[in-house]
Amino acid sequence: MSRSAHPAGPRHADVLTEGHYAAPPADLNVLDEKVWARTVSRNDDGAVTVGGIEVTRLAEEFGTPAYFLDESDFRARCRAWADAFGPGADVFYAGKAFLSRAVVRWLKEEGLNLDVCSGGELTTALDAGMPAERIAFHGNNKTVAEIERAVQVGVGRIVLDSFQEIVRVSHIAQRLGKRQRVQIRVTVGVEAHTHEFIATAHEDQKFGIALAGGQAAEAVRRALTLDGIELIGIHSHIGSQIFDMAGFEVSARRVVQLLAEVRDEHGVELPEIDLGGGLGIAYTSDDDPREPHEIAKALGDIVTRECEAAGLATPRISVEPGRAIVGPTAFTLYEVGTIKHLEGLRTYVSVDGGMSDNIRTALYDAEYSVALVSRRSDAEPMLVRVVGKHCESGDIVVKDAFLPSDLAPGDLIAVPATGAYCRSMASNYNHALRPPVVAVRDGEARVIVRRETEEDLLRLDVG
Ligand SMILES: *Cc1c(COP(=O)(O)O)cnc(C)c1O
Repeated sequence: MSRSAHPAGPRHADVLTEGHYAAPPADLNVLDEKVWARTVSRNDDGAVTVGGIEVTRLAEEFGTPAYFLDESDFRARCRAWADAFGPGADVFYAGKAFLSRAVVRWLKEEGLNLDVCSGGELTTALDAGMPAERIAFHGNNKTVAEIERAVQVGVGRIVLDSFQEIVRVSHIAQRLGKRQRVQIRVTVGVEAHTHEFIATAHEDQKFGIALAGGQAAEAVRRALTLDGIELIGIHSHIGSQIFDMAGFEVSARRVVQLLAEVRDEHGVELPEIDLGGGLGIAYTSDDDPREPHEIAKALGDIVTRECEAAGLATPRISVEPGRAIVGPTAFTLYEVGTIKHLEGLRTYVSVDGGMSDNIRTALYDAEYSVALVSRRSDAEPMLVRVVGKHCESGDIVVKDAFLPSDLAPGDLIAVPATGAYCRSMASNYNHALRPPVVAVRDGEARVIVRRETEEDLLRLDVG
């Protein structure tokens, strides 16, 4: 996944030969708008602002570490996706990227639908007023209780992930006297991550039912004969942080092929296909994500072309962006604690959070950027590694980045593009208190997920 050849800890000289940190940017004070939320900028005093509020003020009011989410950016991205796909398609926000009741309300207001993959996410969605018919329920091992609840409340679709689940949902729906709309998730033998994709990826994964060997066709056969479910389409999700549309092209072609087989065998044209999420965002200046309208056009063209070739009416398309909507809208604000210069090796900058608020670097070897945001500095750039405060040497937030060499304890630094899979994957490792998420909009900041407290920790500890 990473472009780094030295995940285990390169020496200074090796680091300098690699990628975007081979040379420092011309001016460290300049914020690359590709990786920062839309309303982020640096003011005349040198402090960075979001939604018109200085980060120094935000740190005073909300503390650090904390996630600050640009609400107007989030809403604009929702609208961009909805507009790009238009009324003939459906955009489902993948709630696992980051979900809270405020987020659900924004999605509802901006006309998006919502993917959930657990009872907890479903509860959050319903509690905040998302209409059940705009919710899709995912997961490779939904519990019976989760399925019952989803069917009972009438979610728009359940995405079936196994042969057992086809039967299970059918039984539950019949018992509850309902007819549940379902899709079948297939694995198309395509795996895409970042700049590469493999068209002949093996089917050795826990999600979906393989197209290979006729398994998906068999799943359709069974779903069409069972009562209690209405098969409305085929679902495929091929990976994450994808820039190359070629993977979607292969995926769409293989899904349409299945639709044609289904028509030939059963005389049924399934009305929907879902091409999943996984669209990439810019974590560093090296990444060049596509705009929603380009993605919509590319996907629409592929599906239309393949369907014409197969003599099928074009099905209704849905997509499920998570990261591409929320990822760029937030940054994590940290206070610098200790700084260690290891002569001839590297400089470690420690912050007051770490792998408990951003596990992606440790888990996926993910790349991030970082900037000094509490003030301007014209000091020489220094190559650093930003690390957390946890008892784990893999507790890295930003592997390699340039910060000004006059960086000092008490400075505020921010890591952009942390809106997706950071708070949602946050942990209490070392009994860390998970940071708050603060929504900022038009000069106003409000907490949408509050900071955990030590009382919260003790409340669960009933021993
Ligand atoms: C995770 C997931 C998504 C969202 O992926 P992103 O990379 O956040 O866009 C969409 N659909 C399914 C089925 C997923 O599992």
